[in-house]
Amino acid sequence: MELACLDLEGVLIPEIWIAFAEETGIEELKATTRDIPDYDVLMKQRLRILDEHGLTLPQIQDTISRLAPLEGARDFIDWLRERFQVVILSDTFYEFAAPLMKQLGYPTLLCHKLEVNEEGRITDYTLRQRDPKRQSVRAFQLLNYRVIAAGDSYNDTTMLAQAESGILFHAPQNVIEEFPQFPAVQTFSDLKQAFVDASARDLKI
Ligand SMILES: [Mg+2]
Repeated sequence: MELACLDLEGVLIPEIWIAFAEETGIEELKATTRDIPDYDVLMKQRLRILDEHGLTLPQIQDTISRLAPLEGARDFIDWLRERFQVVILSDTFYEFAAPLMKQLGYPTLLCHKLEVNEEGRITDYTLRQRDPKRQSVRAFQLLNYRVIAAGDSYNDTTMLAQAESGILFHAPQNVIEEFPQFPAVQTFSDLKQAFVDASARDLKI
């Protein structure tokens, strides 16, 4: 049996921190896992910048409430869910993702949690576990699922490597070049085909 694991930001929805950086005009907040592969280093930098500017969770949620999934993302995920069990594996936080998950039809989401004080200041975050995307794929494999995974960035590469098939989607050139072992596609129709091809390959094994 096969399970599809998908990254969220950059694959189905826009990068939340980039959207917030654009609304606030704070250039430093534009850094993502594409730029800083170590997620802890990246998150600590983000929280420091938020603090320096006195920015709170409700302000970020206000930006998120105006975001929509990427064009074609809802159709893609509906298509995928007709063919596979689908789990979204993300390094975002439940507090950020909720309004966008509604627009995607509430697929299963495994991600992280924020710690927020009474004033709405983000004081810390709880990562569910280390290397969470890869560990999730491992866990599904222990349940006898074969996994086809797709993601766009550095924080997806251990998930793609752990999966029986890994696909880069919307990945920047530097990630494509560093990880030539994964097929790289840029459109939802090519991503559908990549899932179909990976599934056909799996059946032959
Ligand atoms: Mg991503």
